[in-house]
Amino acid sequence: MPDRTDTRKETVAATGGAHEARPAVRVQGLWKRFGEQVAVAGIDLELPAGKFIGLVGPNGAGKTTTLSMVTGLLRPDMGKIEVAGHDVWTDPVEVKSRIGVLPEGLRLFERLSGRELLAYNGRLRGLPGAEVDKRATQLLDVLDLAGAQHKLVVDYSTGMRKKIGLAAALLHNPEVLFLDEPFEGVDPVSAQIIRGVLERYTRSGATVVFSSHVMELVESLCDWVAVMAAGRIKAQGTLAEVRGDAPSLQSAFLELVGASGRDTGDSLDWLGGAR
Ligand code: ATP
Repeated sequence: MPDRTDTRKETVAATGGAHEARPAVRVQGLWKRFGEQVAVAGIDLELPAGKFIGLVGPNGAGKTTTLSMVTGLLRPDMGKIEVAGHDVWTDPVEVKSRIGVLPEGLRLFERLSGRELLAYNGRLRGLPGAEVDKRATQLLDVLDLAGAQHKLVVDYSTGMRKKIGLAAALLHNPEVLFLDEPFEGVDPVSAQIIRGVLERYTRSGATVVFSSHVMELVESLCDWVAVMAAGRIKAQGTLAEVRGDAPSLQSAFLELVGASGRDTGDSLDWLGGAR
């Protein structure tokens, strides 16, 4: 598959920066049901290009299901999804050449070393060997994995797996990067490194869409937010629009998902106290 570097530079140059009329992702009437369980209940989303976008919601809100459908990993029951102007389900090769994905429960080739994994991914993406080598060396270095590049992936820690997965997702310089909980299980030092790489990437006009429940993180990273609960989109817009008059994204979020002020009442009255 072709590298998208030139396409993106052209787009950014033509639009004079990070703002672009065509959204990075457009979702219309998206549904997914697992038996009786409605995971995604007819959502519409329009995620602007060139932004750092957070998809937030409580456990079971439908974030992973949505991201899986948007990235072509899970077939929707109904609805239309376009990424970078191409239909995910009728034009999958075009879309897959333009996106990078760090999915939940990332499965990697465990018996390859980190460097071999990147070499394999680069060749799958159709990049020339020398270019893959150059990019892999830089990514391993920036992500602080150079010392572990010859170690088998099976021996990587959780944080190292996230970082090598991120390197593999970035290697072909995608237009849109999707990350499901990229900071989960990652220590503060690695989180800072990942953050730096992603900020540099969005500054070049690319789009990051990531899911998280950590509001402080979303508030400090994202310029655009979609809030999801019970399979529906409760709010979407700039951080300021979604936060509204609330003192923080956390309180706006609790308000939106209907969880503010909830306490345990008389339940758990056996917990703690005299034994
Ligand atoms: P979390 O933040 O806890 O990861 P999420 O917002 O990513 O949650 P999903 O994983 O998309 O939520 O799940 C949405 C709903 O769909 C949940 O009720 C979940 O139990 C259900 N669900 C998801 N995948 C499946 C599946 N393969 N089979 C059955 N039910 C599923």
